[in-house]
Amino acid sequence: MAYDFDLYVIGAGSGGVRSARFAAGFGAKVAVAESRYLGGTCVNVGCVPKKLLVYGAHFAEDFEQSAGFGWSLGEADFDWATLIANKDREINRLNGIYRNLLVNSGVTLHEGHARLIDPHQVEVNGQRYTARHILIATGGWPQIPDIPGREHAISSNEAFFLKELPKRILVVGGGYIAVEFAGIFHGLGADTKLLYRGELFLRGFDGAVRKHLQEELTKRGLDLQFNADIERIEKQADGSLKVTLKDGRELATDCVFYATGRRPMLDNLGLENTGVKLDKRGFIEVDEQYQSAEPSILAIGDVIGRVQLTPVALAEGMAVARRLFKPEQYRPVDYNMIPTAVFSLPNIGTVGLTEEQAREAGHKVQIFESRFRPMKLTLTECQERTLMKLVVDAETDKVLGCHMVGPDAGEIVQGLAIALKAGATKRDFDETIGVHPTAAEEFVTMRTPVAG
Ligand code: FAD
Ligand code: NDP
Repeated sequence: MAYDFDLYVIGAGSGGVRSARFAAGFGAKVAVAESRYLGGTCVNVGCVPKKLLVYGAHFAEDFEQSAGFGWSLGEADFDWATLIANKDREINRLNGIYRNLLVNSGVTLHEGHARLIDPHQVEVNGQRYTARHILIATGGWPQIPDIPGREHAISSNEAFFLKELPKRILVVGGGYIAVEFAGIFHGLGADTKLLYRGELFLRGFDGAVRKHLQEELTKRGLDLQFNADIERIEKQADGSLKVTLKDGRELATDCVFYATGRRPMLDNLGLENTGVKLDKRGFIEVDEQYQSAEPSILAIGDVIGRVQLTPVALAEGMAVARRLFKPEQYRPVDYNMIPTAVFSLPNIGTVGLTEEQAREAGHKVQIFESRFRPMKLTLTECQERTLMKLVVDAETDKVLGCHMVGPDAGEIVQGLAIALKAGATKRDFDETIGVHPTAAEEFVTMRTPVAG
């Protein structure tokens, strides 16, 4: 049967755009449907605008620290509306770039909601299109628990477009988004509380990293409330919010921001017209080559719920394009040693196994740690300390994990990830000459294990 397209991609986000462009480059006839915004979550309500807001928040400490270097700046004043307007302009520019990337690579763009009609057919804006393969790359959506007063809470989607900077804000959650946004709002001057239901936030990160970040954020005056969860939210006559916690405490705030994970975006997608199956958590179930239970339908990125990071969606998108249209170049995505950063202030950068994971996997480990006051702060009042940690296999000498909390940790860990991917040993680290004076050189000068 002749199809309208070789590949029909649903969703022009990180994974969908990458897959569509590469498939078209390999000679396939490709279309993409996008219902909301070109570039998807990362470009519009994720990585990019988030990082711009983190930069914005960082100036607060730069101004403060500059005094130690002889600068006097007078009273600093911050205007939220300017930051948001400038951020929006940049995102519009990026939307245009994504449009050009698609069009220039020969991909047909359909702007509208796509719905599956059968395993080879999609409907967009009342038109039906057939395709040999369909790729679902519809991403995720914030998930807010169903508590009384939920309608008064916002998620990251709205946080990027608030008309004003709230005077007081409660951020709920203990994952990436909660920690990053608590830092943003605190840095920009809002009275910020972070509420997390467990003992210590950032579950899954190295224990020393979690503890160190807790200490650093507390030093900066961010109010961290652990073992705390909201029971209900009530709007008050003056527009403020009364928040009642499960332990009976009451808190007054102007904004409640939930960052409690993301669900797969499957709304009105028409999966019931196909044989696609979901896993236990509700994400699309795929095999190792991203094929769903319906042979003509594949899925990648946040909607499969494996690793919800843009570079992973990009790698999966590329793998699908190659597998379908350039099989001789196909390489499976390697989910080991994925580096990641939490853009808190200070940053976390991490790659490889945490100490806990390494021990659990049966490794006999040696732990190297360095804690120090960054050189830049020596002329300032700031008491912030950096943490660097190496997890080493005592038997093979292989470095299993690198972890850092401190300025530019995200930048530093990218290079370390290459070393770990190449199988570097602690001896390789020791024999590497440092770049002096930097913080990063500490990673090659740690000599004495703190724990075995
Ligand atoms: P998405 O980028 O979400 O794209 C899906 C697209 O599909 C969307 O544009 C959507 O509108 C469209 N769509 C959905 N349904 C339909 C339909 N039926 N028809 C047509 N179109 C449809 N990752 C990092 O690596 N680093 C970060 O710093 C980072 N920061 C983040 C900050 C925040 C606040 C958030 C929310 C996420 C962040 N992420 C970050 C995660 C990252 O954004 C995602 O992992 C990534 O965007 C996933 O890409 P994707 O292609 O799977 O989906
Ligand atoms: P995460 O899965 O990272 O964290 C969710 C947090 O919410 C956890 O602390 C979890 O607690 C808590 N939580 C879950 N359900 C509830 C509930 N019902 N009540 C109270 N707390 C709850 O999700 P995020 O929303 O922060 O981010 C989504 C994903 O986006 C991330 O996992 C990451 O992959 C990606 N992302 C990446 C970024 C980066 O690379 N810098 C930045 C932002 C997002 P518990 O641990 O107890 O389960």
